[in-house]
Amino acid sequence: MIVSPKIRGFICTTAHPDGCAAHVQEQIDYVKSKPKLENGPKNVLVIGASTGYGLASRIVPAFASGANTLGLFFEKPGSEKRTGSAGWYNSAAFEKAATAEGLFAKSLNGDAFSHEMKAQAVDIIKNEMGGKIDLVVYSLASPRRTDPDTGEVYKSVLKTTGGDYTNKTLNTDKGEVEEVTIGAATPEEIEHTIKVMGGEDWELWMNALSDAGVLADGVKTVAYSYIGPELTWPIYTDGTIGQAKKDLEKSCAQLNEKLSSLNGEAYVSVNKALVTQASSAIPVVPLYISILYKEMKEKGLHEGCIEQIERLFADRLYSGDAKLDEAGRIRIDDWEMRDDIQSAVAEKWKTVSNENFSEIADFQGYQDEFLKLFGFGLEGVNYEADTDPATGVPSIA
Ligand code: NAD
Repeated sequence: MIVSPKIRGFICTTAHPDGCAAHVQEQIDYVKSKPKLENGPKNVLVIGASTGYGLASRIVPAFASGANTLGLFFEKPGSEKRTGSAGWYNSAAFEKAATAEGLFAKSLNGDAFSHEMKAQAVDIIKNEMGGKIDLVVYSLASPRRTDPDTGEVYKSVLKTTGGDYTNKTLNTDKGEVEEVTIGAATPEEIEHTIKVMGGEDWELWMNALSDAGVLADGVKTVAYSYIGPELTWPIYTDGTIGQAKKDLEKSCAQLNEKLSSLNGEAYVSVNKALVTQASSAIPVVPLYISILYKEMKEKGLHEGCIEQIERLFADRLYSGDAKLDEAGRIRIDDWEMRDDIQSAVAEKWKTVSNENFSEIADFQGYQDEFLKLFGFGLEGVNYEADTDPATGVPSIA
């Protein structure tokens, strides 16, 4: 079939197998262009490994440090009639490239919140990865979670924790600046969002791995967070998702205590706002990202997921100095949060409207990156060619 983008709101329901492979290769090439990691990890588990920050967190240790990787995700396989999800094809392409270099690379496709997936991961680490892992990356972005003990389903919401909040937003379908009002969450919605996106499951993972004896001495674990500028605080940092991220920080402190007997370390890394499947669903944020991209590109500071994660590993996690902030977090959002960038974005935010949007924001860059997430718009890919959506299959354990 000819695979072309089918966009519905803020998602694309198709993905191109060859385009996704080209996107993964672009990221591998970037990592290979950088110096190898001294003392990098050798056996890595990435939870949420198929797209966005998690995929980059699988590519960096593999190609900068020669690491074996086990990747876990929730993706849809392709069939003769329908394309699979981008993360499915990304993972197949990653595995092909990693195994070609003699690296172990296997994947698990299923619900990371379940006991079963944790048990399966432990089995693979024990039987196929030499018994111990030295890095666990937790990079899940999920709208719901089934509690593995009670079976209760929790849904996360993107709402404020105060009153209504009105601001500008980008209608990414139409490319128009609009106003949006986001309502306040109920206490129950806040609690549910914390259940889904907070630290409980990260701790459950680390407990399961520790109880099974598969964590190496000196193991590190990292989970990702976001803070951003004040203009997005009502919907992000002070909103329901921000409450979940605060919970992640509490879990990080618990994990640091727990891992001390193994000389291990747990980190929360605050990353830059980037176009990913998860972030495009957040109101206000895509408009902020479009303005931010323009500003950061003009100053030569723009980074995508792979550049962020390469810098996170090289300059923080494996540099001997993680350069933590006053709250004990890694700040790889440092360039985004620079005063000159933030004051320029804030100025533009005041005046941005439909009339001046294309001059003061990088909507083209936003759209190009959004399409790239699904394997569209990559150089060297023949989008006119008949493509079999059932090809490109990761080795699911
Ligand atoms: P993403 O949507 O690209 O990736 C999410 C990953 O989670 C995918 O691999 C998906 O398959 C997996 N997943 C979702 N539900 C799952 C489940 N039940 N079981 C197994 N796997 C599941 O998201 P992203 O933007 O890369 O976000 C990753 C983390 O980074 C999140 O914690 C997010 O808050 C954080 N973060 C994102 C940004 C940003 O701007 N995108 C900025 C800072 C921090």
